[in-house]
Amino acid sequence: MKLVTFTHEGSTRIGVAVGEEVVDLSAAAPELPREMIAFFEAGDSALEAARAAVEGGGDRLALSAVRLEAPILRPPKILAVGLNYADHIAETGLDTPQHPVIFNKQSTAAHPTGVPFHLPRASTKLDYEGELGIVIGKRCRHVPKERAREVIAGYTVINDVSVRDWQARVPTMTMGKSFDTHCPMGPWIVTSDEIEDPHALELKTWVNGELRQHSNTKHLIFDAFDLVEHLSTAFTLEPGDVIPTGTPSGVGIGFKPRKWLVEGDVVRIAIEGIGEIENAVVAEPAETTRIG
Ligand code: ZN
Repeated sequence: MKLVTFTHEGSTRIGVAVGEEVVDLSAAAPELPREMIAFFEAGDSALEAARAAVEGGGDRLALSAVRLEAPILRPPKILAVGLNYADHIAETGLDTPQHPVIFNKQSTAAHPTGVPFHLPRASTKLDYEGELGIVIGKRCRHVPKERAREVIAGYTVINDVSVRDWQARVPTMTMGKSFDTHCPMGPWIVTSDEIEDPHALELKTWVNGELRQHSNTKHLIFDAFDLVEHLSTAFTLEPGDVIPTGTPSGVGIGFKPRKWLVEGDVVRIAIEGIGEIENAVVAEPAETTRIG
């Protein structure tokens, strides 16, 4: 299933995208939670009820009539991975890490497809990173990689938008990776039962129609299952946690001269078997300033 969070006539809820329509689970299966994290917390029986609602026809809306939101509106954690494709490591000139390079993107960075993300007031060194995203479906700890599949709800497409000067000027990447709007994700979560092998998916990123990144998740150094094992060794993974798995080569900082994003650029990222997200770049608006 393609699980979506959408807004229709002022109400935000979850559904299942089917072709050009979305099955509105709040109408087709009103007993289910209306929010994605609560839906995952309700377990396999909720997934089965959603599947039955889709098969039963369900109440449907045109996809064009709803606004897609980030599938997880506010992930409990966004645990991203740096330097996880050999070709990207080569373009950075850094060494291949012995352990996954984990950093946080703040959960407030979550952002939908179709809505522009910000060129910050604080920087012009704005960059894109097309990535496969893992979405955790079950509360878990100490998950061996052989069983990681059991805790993964599904997969999504992520743009790990990066502010390179802020990322590089101190040893931790957190500030440069966490600006508001800098984690576009979606358009939906494809449930893991529909992704036979998450490590055989073509990934492409275009900027203004120019193909910049073209790789395959088979080139991940630490794969999705390795990452679940590694992260859950230290802390509990929760339903709705999102793991952007790293980006291949072709990001703006890898070009000479560098190709920073500017206002009006459009970034589109597609992953085979999942879908695509597209976001324009807009200057950070004055109203982001908020004190009290
Ligand atoms: Zn990244």
